[in-house]
Amino acid sequence: MDAKLTVGEPRVIISRNAILHNAALLRRLLQPSYPRIAENQPRLARKRLCAMIKADAYGHGFGVVVDALQNFAVDEIEAPVVDMLAVASISEAERLPHTELPVLIFRPVENCYLGRQRQQLEMAIRNRWVLTICSAAAAEDVARIAVSCSRRALIQVFIDTGMTRSGVGCDQVDHLLQVIENHASLKLVGLCTHLALSEAAEHQTTHQQLQQFHAATDGPAKHFGARVLRHVANSGGMFFHRDSHFDMVRPGIALYGIDPTGKPSVDRPLQPALRWTAPLIDVREVKAGAGVGYGLSWRAERDTRIGLIPVGYADGYLRCFGNAAMMLVHGISVPVVGNVSMDLTTIDLAGVPHAVVGDEVTLLASDPLSPASVYALAKIANTIPYEILCRIGARIHRVSAEAESESTGVATAEEIDSDDTDDHDDLDIT
Ligand SMILES: *Cc1c(COP(=O)(O)O)cnc(C)c1O
Repeated sequence: MDAKLTVGEPRVIISRNAILHNAALLRRLLQPSYPRIAENQPRLARKRLCAMIKADAYGHGFGVVVDALQNFAVDEIEAPVVDMLAVASISEAERLPHTELPVLIFRPVENCYLGRQRQQLEMAIRNRWVLTICSAAAAEDVARIAVSCSRRALIQVFIDTGMTRSGVGCDQVDHLLQVIENHASLKLVGLCTHLALSEAAEHQTTHQQLQQFHAATDGPAKHFGARVLRHVANSGGMFFHRDSHFDMVRPGIALYGIDPTGKPSVDRPLQPALRWTAPLIDVREVKAGAGVGYGLSWRAERDTRIGLIPVGYADGYLRCFGNAAMMLVHGISVPVVGNVSMDLTTIDLAGVPHAVVGDEVTLLASDPLSPASVYALAKIANTIPYEILCRIGARIHRVSAEAESESTGVATAEEIDSDDTDDHDDLDIT
């Protein structure tokens, strides 16, 4: 959406330059194998970067984020600045803007041989999206569906190395891979796991998880060779566990400029990409003693002016921010007073006598040290920045801080299916 069309509306403004800055910073962590060292460098040597853009790109909006990641260069890094995109589900993949980048879907396929799920899986297979498999039963189901579409399904195997959330157990990996190899309609492209404590540097648990992952995948990695990528690291893994980088990394939160530790860090100069603003739609004079909002939970101690913002908890501006969070008006921080309502929030404008209706108010600032930063809001809500970001509601327009992309059409990565010539993807099964 063009930023100009949304002036005077609540909106989330995304800095493409910040996203590109963060992507470049993350890329540099993968050196020396990036940028491409030499033309004849084996593909294997270059570590890939998969952008985690689930949950509408952590609340930032697919449109602006995918445009930034695939159509723009930054510093020495050519477009696209990432090699792949990853979402949570097939329905999320459906909502992605057109992309030439490979798309991974992380929700494990399960109980899939029924109704709507089957249609979704067929679509995923036709679109060459990579499906995540955690059991032999799921592999069998996907294989059958792939045969019925006369296509090979691209799949990755997700291994549970100790987080105990999803994934095939380490002791079942060999069996599952055997099942996969027995099906010509399945094409394995990845072996992966997820870290439970990646943001804790030097943690014993992470070492154990990595050991488990090696034990389960070193043999298969040798057997399958370069076309199967091993990947483990999220943002925390990238920063704190170099031995978790393997063939590809999967940062999410850091791409958006937020530190995985939940606190801003001088060691990791990330730039938060998101700013959330709304217009001041009313300013009213109130007398000392006036109660404000549902329950009259705040009372003016002196005569003041109350400002009204057309955003509420239905938009993900959480109710617990009432009488707790700060917003910025003309760069001055002002308190949210009274309870946050579903669609409206009130602020005390005592500190900004020159504020008038129509002024832009910042609900969430991109400056990591601002009292309205995502870190500050997460602290009030007793949660992590991730949750604050991805709860920003669908009513809020997502716009780019910089001019819209002139569709350059540069993005073409054929990472997954590159040049394994003896390996036809469209199976003629009959
Ligand atoms: C969300 C997610 C990531 C990214 O995690 P961040 O902490 O945001 O970097 C990586 N891998 C998987 C499987 C995920 O679900």
